[in-house]
Amino acid sequence: MQSDAAFEYDGGRVDPGTRRNLRYAISETYLGDPIRIPVTVVNGDREGPTVFLSAASHGDELNGIEVVREVAHEWDLSDLAGTLVCLPVLNVPGFLAQQRYLPIYDRDLNRSFPGREGSTSAKRMAARIFDNFIQPCDFGVDFHTSTRGRTNMLHVRADMSDDAVARLAQAFGSNVIIDGEGGDGLLRTEATRAGVPTVTVEMGEAHRFQRDLIDDALAGVESVFAEYGLRETPVVRWPGWRTVIRDTDERTWIRADVGGIVDMHHESGSLVHAGDRICTLTDPFKSDSAAVEAPFTGLLVGVLENPVVYPGNPLCHLVELDDEVRRVVEREQAADTAA
Ligand SMILES: [Zn+2]
Repeated sequence: MQSDAAFEYDGGRVDPGTRRNLRYAISETYLGDPIRIPVTVVNGDREGPTVFLSAASHGDELNGIEVVREVAHEWDLSDLAGTLVCLPVLNVPGFLAQQRYLPIYDRDLNRSFPGREGSTSAKRMAARIFDNFIQPCDFGVDFHTSTRGRTNMLHVRADMSDDAVARLAQAFGSNVIIDGEGGDGLLRTEATRAGVPTVTVEMGEAHRFQRDLIDDALAGVESVFAEYGLRETPVVRWPGWRTVIRDTDERTWIRADVGGIVDMHHESGSLVHAGDRICTLTDPFKSDSAAVEAPFTGLLVGVLENPVVYPGNPLCHLVELDDEVRRVVEREQAADTAA
């Protein structure tokens, strides 16, 4: 869709050169009141692509909300070439309850796309969102954080076998891209299948606004806008180093073999060398402890924040780096320590 046209959805339109804040009904409560998602559509004066930015399809994942709001309401979009569809809170019932899933039978909204009319409540909500605000776009970015109790460094998840998705993922300019199609029902997977190339950005923890990550993600959005000519901004950013990791390598999730209390020795984003102690598991009396060592040299993409585990719970997400990238990361982290 080009921006010389109005942006149309079921119930309204936004003409070129105008913007609109709306609350769009996607379902109803037990009391029969509408459940409405906030939407801001900014239709530029100039022609260009139609792009969605979405967040909080998991209701307690807050960082992306601020990213989307700042783009929509703090950026100067007077020179916009194209249309922005900003969806800061997709899972409104989950957001109100500050929980990941829809409170109705704990359904995962982000496994319910593209949705279907006449189906379950989750799929009806997903369909209202998808048909009106995702399908009309040319591409999109969906923001997430780690699940509650864990955190991850900012990274992009994308199906790099799809050229249009790979272009978008690279334009965002993160150090780490995790490559994989994603599962059925995911917004990014289903949007991409429907002809709207989409990536997920994972950033930090649930229940927080983390300013450094929000700024980094805003720089990513700016870079994407530069790549597709939406704004006359500087240039597409090169993050200094980049690694693309396949999503299929199960061993990169290091899991606890015993239950206990976890003393984590590294932050997400740290480089650890083979044999380094990542964390220590202890019992309540501190009399018995087990060291968890890095099985190979790699980057800690995600780590546990809530320091308790059952056997089998994930402790961290460690990904291998090739030698060249590893050397760049080592230099960078040494410089950070010195600074
Ligand atoms: Zn999520």
